[in-house]
Amino acid sequence: MTLSHVLGYPRIGADRELKRAVEAYWQGSLDRDGLESAGRELRARHWAAQREAGLDLVTVGDFAFYDQVLDLSVTLGAVPARFGAEEEIAAGEVGLDTAFRMARGRAPSGEPTAACEMTKYFDTNYHYLVPELHAGQRFRLASSRLFDQVAEAQALGHPVKVSLLGPLTWLWLGKEKGEQSFDRLALLEELLPVYGELLARLGEQGVEWVQLDEPALVQELPTAWQQAYEAAYSVLGRAPVKLLLASYFGGLGDNLNLAVGLPVDGLHIDAVRAPEQLDAVLDRLPGYKVLSVGAIDGRNVWRADLALLRERLASARMRLGRRLWIAPSCSLLHVPVDLTRERDLDPELASWLAFARQKLDETVTLARLLDGRATEVDRRRLEAATEALQARRDSPRIHRPEVADRLAGVEPADHERRSPYGVRAEAQRRALKLPLLPTTTIGSFPQTDAIRAARRALKAGELSRDEYEARMEEEIAYAVARQEALGIDMPVHGEPERNDMVEYFGEQLDGYAFTRFGWVQSYGSRCVKPPVIYGDVSRPGPMTVRWSRYAQSLTDRPMKGMLTGPVTMLQWAFVRDDQPRETTCRQIALALRDEVCDLEAAGIRAIQIDEPALREGLPLRQGEWPAYLAWAVECFRLSAAGVGDETQIHTHMCYSEFNDIIESIAALDADVITIETSRSDMELLDAFREFAYPNEIGPGVYDIHSPNVPEVAWMVALMEKAAERIPVERLWVNPDCGLKTRRWEEVEPALANMVEAARQLRRRF
Ligand code: GLN
Ligand code: ZN
Repeated sequence: MTLSHVLGYPRIGADRELKRAVEAYWQGSLDRDGLESAGRELRARHWAAQREAGLDLVTVGDFAFYDQVLDLSVTLGAVPARFGAEEEIAAGEVGLDTAFRMARGRAPSGEPTAACEMTKYFDTNYHYLVPELHAGQRFRLASSRLFDQVAEAQALGHPVKVSLLGPLTWLWLGKEKGEQSFDRLALLEELLPVYGELLARLGEQGVEWVQLDEPALVQELPTAWQQAYEAAYSVLGRAPVKLLLASYFGGLGDNLNLAVGLPVDGLHIDAVRAPEQLDAVLDRLPGYKVLSVGAIDGRNVWRADLALLRERLASARMRLGRRLWIAPSCSLLHVPVDLTRERDLDPELASWLAFARQKLDETVTLARLLDGRATEVDRRRLEAATEALQARRDSPRIHRPEVADRLAGVEPADHERRSPYGVRAEAQRRALKLPLLPTTTIGSFPQTDAIRAARRALKAGELSRDEYEARMEEEIAYAVARQEALGIDMPVHGEPERNDMVEYFGEQLDGYAFTRFGWVQSYGSRCVKPPVIYGDVSRPGPMTVRWSRYAQSLTDRPMKGMLTGPVTMLQWAFVRDDQPRETTCRQIALALRDEVCDLEAAGIRAIQIDEPALREGLPLRQGEWPAYLAWAVECFRLSAAGVGDETQIHTHMCYSEFNDIIESIAALDADVITIETSRSDMELLDAFREFAYPNEIGPGVYDIHSPNVPEVAWMVALMEKAAERIPVERLWVNPDCGLKTRRWEEVEPALANMVEAARQLRRRF
């Protein structure tokens, strides 16, 4: 019998109950017992969902109030000294508030302390708290939360499998801290006994299977790390539990032999992103091992093609017999919870989708189909899936010949501006008449309560479209007047009409759909609701022109138009899986190109195309970077290159490493790039200097994440550092990022100081 399971399930709850409970606890309106019981209730519900669906095991260990990587760090006693948790660690019971302070700097109890760093989990939009590692660090079991949860699931009568991040990926995700330089891999020896103890405790609890997640195995690993896998698992393999080593987010590549050969009882592979590895793994898998095939897409929202999967996996079933397990490719943490909640979604579109709850059913049905023990329900599911997928393949809502034709007609010249940067810069200098070190902002101004209330009222039908637009025009007029008074050289309209930089455009493009409850955890209690790109993307009409034109009518200064770039539009969405991502991105680029040209025709002389997600799109394997960067750069250029020399194209990226992608940044050929640099002391500009980056740069001098008003002298000093790296004629003065999360009371004095800094600098240079 083919066993079915999941690597993890979303913990936020179908109504984001976890978010509400955690935030209420932080605010003091829910006490600790209340929070714990909310957690217990959610866990119970999610285990029940897994059992009701018919999975053979429920997964314990995927729950966390904030982040499962943080919880593991706490369990291992890896709590940085500044949190003062020595006693809690010694007692083996690090408190909830200590973990919250690590996550966000404060908690209902305990001293506020600088939080741990947070970063994206592999190539997902889920953020984990980076383990802080020190030379000579000691570990010890410092929390019994996991054991309690195991007991909880057992008390409910569930067959338990525990999921945990493996020791090497935990170290891989960590960061070396402290004066002394060292290699974090050296901590493995110290770490393993604690993992051993943990596994032994789970064994004592009667847990049969423990899934150790090692997604680092899908990346290129240094030899020392590959060897460490062998060393570590030969120790862990002796634990009194069965180990399932889980790889996901891609193929094992050159780690395949290593992963297959480790002395554990089972291996999980991602057969969605890397279906081709299945045969290679089958050929090499030792006869005693279980193979868990991740066949259902854990990273996307599309309904599985059960008929196709049954066919594809038939030989694996034959070869492995009972040693075959079926699962989604990775934890379902990365998809929304339950499709049945989407009552407003068009039924045809809904029939093409599956969220976490539906993916449980797909997993179970696939396993039963493979065994030839399909029930009536399974047969109906199979049929429904086949029908829906057929409809999807043929749907005129997805396939628009005019979009495909246009894309096919794109020529290399369409990616090129008319003249090289030098010529354009001259034309722009004459047209824009900007001073040395021009000042600008990144686009958004404070999203006030009044703005949000107006948008809600519009949605609720309490405000007419005309009234709403008049309200937004007032906001724009206000922002423009403030910028004129401040003396900003290139003003913006302030983006009051945008709820979100992706949603705003997606709502106006064909091929995009929005869910009502499609929340996915991004970090802690924060969730995002990515749009779904289901069909060919095209632009029925102008999206921003009326706002930019209005804003320009209020000032003689060059108003900067504001768009979200094609790569970011792609990256922050669930993308259709029936054509290459690159093709979808090019379609978006063409739609944006029309908007860029329309803005130019409407008298907008500078247009910013934001690409904060360009770097995020990098594949997990560096070997695949060049191919990605090539099409990503082309898409940006396609969106930008329709305008004349005099029109200035800007782009913007938030905090990012530029060193290893600087060539591609330059290849974007934006006339101006603004970047987040204020906290890096302009060090990020080194990459630009070393590459002799040819175009203009606005290095952020105002840290918009802080409520503090930056001082003139501080910004002057930063710009002086910038001028040591980039010729001053090619520098701009601007904040790090948009200002929508700030208040006007903070923004106005900060920008006044920024303009004053530019004035002082102009006198100097
Ligand atoms: N133009 C956007 C803004 O100012 C850019 C946001 C971003 O870079 N994430 O809000
Ligand atoms: Zn930004």
